[in-house]
Amino acid sequence: MLHGRSSLYPYERFPSKGTPVRRELSESCGLFGVYGVRNAARMTYFGLYALQHRGEEASGIAVSDGKTIHSHVGMGLVTEVFDDLRLGALKGPVAIGHVRYGTAGASEIRNAQPLVVDCSRGQIAVVHNGTLVEADAIRDEFEAHGSIFHTTTDTELIVHMLARPNHVMSGERGIKQALASLKGAFSLLLLTPEQLIAVRDPHGFRPLVLGRAGRKGWAVASETCALDLVKAHYVREVQPGEILFIDANGLRSERFVGEERVRPHHCVFEQVYFARPDSIVFGDMVHEVRIRLGRNLAREQPVEADVVMSVPDSGNSAAIGYARASGIPYDRGLIRNHYVGRTFINPRPEDRVTGVDVKLNAVKTVVKGRRVIVVDDSIIRGTTSRGRIRMLRRTGAREIHMRVSCPPTRFPCFYGIDFPTPGELLAADRDVSQIRDFLELDSIGYLSVEGLLSSLSGPPENYCTACWSGDYIVPIDRHLGRFRSRRKK
Ligand code: 5GP
Ligand code: MG
Repeated sequence: MLHGRSSLYPYERFPSKGTPVRRELSESCGLFGVYGVRNAARMTYFGLYALQHRGEEASGIAVSDGKTIHSHVGMGLVTEVFDDLRLGALKGPVAIGHVRYGTAGASEIRNAQPLVVDCSRGQIAVVHNGTLVEADAIRDEFEAHGSIFHTTTDTELIVHMLARPNHVMSGERGIKQALASLKGAFSLLLLTPEQLIAVRDPHGFRPLVLGRAGRKGWAVASETCALDLVKAHYVREVQPGEILFIDANGLRSERFVGEERVRPHHCVFEQVYFARPDSIVFGDMVHEVRIRLGRNLAREQPVEADVVMSVPDSGNSAAIGYARASGIPYDRGLIRNHYVGRTFINPRPEDRVTGVDVKLNAVKTVVKGRRVIVVDDSIIRGTTSRGRIRMLRRTGAREIHMRVSCPPTRFPCFYGIDFPTPGELLAADRDVSQIRDFLELDSIGYLSVEGLLSSLSGPPENYCTACWSGDYIVPIDRHLGRFRSRRKK
């Protein structure tokens, strides 16, 4: 039922000896950090709570009292991992925290973050949102030189890169040099006993924002909804290629790569699905972007019908936009049970209950005998969509027209969204009419890439659309070979 989110993109490698192993990557996650407040761990707890949608598998907080870093991580939601007692033990004015995205395979505590190590630079804690490309190759190199890894995440690679004894450059220059050699997507927070460091890769794939916490403090978060909750004031985004050092001397902004390497390529899937609608992401209010996506969708894919409804919650804003632009009334035809979480027992066939039914139920008076337009943000595998459409049919919908507020998702993401393999992506090797038939719809219409990009305030070249277009800005040649055959011209 929780498809994309609970699926592990199987990343195989073939060591010189032995069988292929499944290696886990870090996925889209949530980061929060704060400097110079009275109780940094508690503020981080609330910040992470606002970012819970970015990852439900594991949560963790590391705090510095100025001399030493203490941390606590655990499997599960922020509220499951922390209580007053635990937070009370994490004392200090600086903290970073992480919520991790769930995956099917290696749901292990050792992969939870912050990762805290004692290395040549002293104590350092790291949280990471994104995915490094070539992570396997770099890891092999380290292992060939005797490095031992404790986790199966690419985040640990970053720690190794940072800790690598570097006689030429020490201190902050060494950190910048290490960051400049990383490839792929990384929004990072680093904590040393004295400093909070915030980093965003030169493409700015994943979001990261800076805020003011109180009069003297600073907060950094994946999304502004976390700043809102802790009453921090949004200042600006951490820029692609920027590193922020926050310490007793205040805040200092530097670049870790030259201007020529900074090429913004923000993940549009954040706007389409991932981020909360009440957040400002890449300078745009997400809800407003989704309204525009829905409006453009209505213009590109009109259809006669009686009612526009959404697949809650992720389709809500786009459905409102579709209704406004089409003039067809919006109504709530599907209601979501908000208590469905990770721990829900998977129904068995004899229960006569399906995962889809548990999460959503149709409102009969809205659906029965009507021609309905169902707006959803995306279709990935198509399995949950098919279940939902069958539910609407059972409820007596006369016609079902599905409208999707992004283009067909045909290519895997290598930059931090946990998508299935191309073979599992419904649109990877099906055209639109085959998708319509698979989903048993009267019609289906997707938003075009142009319609998508024109809904955003930045210039089109500043966004990553690889999952729809197959254009990967950071080369992933080592892996692409497996996918190229599926790529349609
Ligand atoms: P599908 O029909 O492809 O199985 O599921 C489509 C639904 O999944 C849409 O409602 C969309 O909002 C949602 N979705 C898209 N990406 C993700 C994801 O990464 N995780 C989860 N849990 N749902 C997703
Ligand atoms: Mg959804």
